[in-house]
Amino acid sequence: MIMNVTESMEDTARYVRLVLPLMSKHGIPITPRNYTTWYYYVSGKNKELRETIDSLLENNEPCSQETNEEIYKRFFIGKEESTLDEIRDKLQQTLTVVFGELKELSGQTQEYESTTLKSVDKLTEDMSVQDIKNVLDEVIAATKKIRSSGEMTHQRLEETTKSLQVLKKDFEDAKTELLQDFLTGVMNRKGFDETLAKSVSSATGNLCLLMIDIDHFKKFNDKHGHIVGDEVLKFVAKNVRKIVRGNDSIARIGGEEFAVILPKTPLLGAVTVAENARASISRLKLERKGKSEKLETITVSIGVSQYKQGESLEEFVNRADQALYFAKNSGRNRVSTESMLPSNGE
Ligand code: GH3
Ligand code: MG
Ligand code: MG
Repeated sequence: MIMNVTESMEDTARYVRLVLPLMSKHGIPITPRNYTTWYYYVSGKNKELRETIDSLLENNEPCSQETNEEIYKRFFIGKEESTLDEIRDKLQQTLTVVFGELKELSGQTQEYESTTLKSVDKLTEDMSVQDIKNVLDEVIAATKKIRSSGEMTHQRLEETTKSLQVLKKDFEDAKTELLQDFLTGVMNRKGFDETLAKSVSSATGNLCLLMIDIDHFKKFNDKHGHIVGDEVLKFVAKNVRKIVRGNDSIARIGGEEFAVILPKTPLLGAVTVAENARASISRLKLERKGKSEKLETITVSIGVSQYKQGESLEEFVNRADQALYFAKNSGRNRVSTESMLPSNGE
């Protein structure tokens, strides 16, 4: 295995200093994957990877994005899931090195040091992409502050800020790649889990969840095929997006199942949103591209739950699921809340 080889801080510092200039020299876009590949190239830990890239460079072959992708796939395949962890580690190393250098250059600006060290400490394993972005924002702000205070006009500080900004963009790209549903453009399951955890931890009450499932979608797919089915999924996602507010989050969490997180929304408000979504989807006029023949109406069933302070995420999600199940069993094309469940004595 190519990863997880321990290396000393000095080595890391050396690799970090080499990798970005090298990538920029060869015009390699600084994406998370490319960064990983080139970091390992510079570290020389994998002989085969080293030789592969060396021979490219010796033969003056262009390091196109396709070539980079091929190399990444060849050496890092099967490690997709850990890409984010990988960049997180590398970022932590990069920041540590960068801070060390800044400290030297700036003559140990006290305030800066404490901000940045805190930021590095915050880069723990369970951080989300958003957290990492926040850390980078803090560091960039602190770096800018030193520059504007005139304590440090060194060109290297300029370069450091640039590298940090590039890394920040990497994270934004990685986030899109990892947290988005490629078909509909809304969040995927991973994005949903992350956002829900965040919403719950910052909820001060009135947090609601909608579970939306398309009715009899199997029949629809069997009749019209998956390609038409996929178009319908996109259409439904687009429609839900139109109905909800800007700070609500939509995710496709299963094949034909969507979830919407509604912060600062009481149960009654959430039911209204759900009812609007249900009604508007049932009114959609679907047509096959280039054909005037109308497709049958699409309907959805929706379950709504409201967060109870102190309960687990699973409980919160389960109650929305149960409400959805109840909506299905009561005839579909309807909205149910947990309070309508037969076991609920209210
Ligand atoms: P119900 O009203 O009980 O929800 O019935 P259903 O047919 O919608 O539910 P079921 O879970 O039996 O089937 C879900 C179907 O959704 C199966 C498959 O045909 C379709 N589906 C799931 N994922 C996708 C997808 O990504 N694209 C397309 N086109 N169809 C999908
Ligand atoms: Mg369904
Ligand atoms: Mg389903």
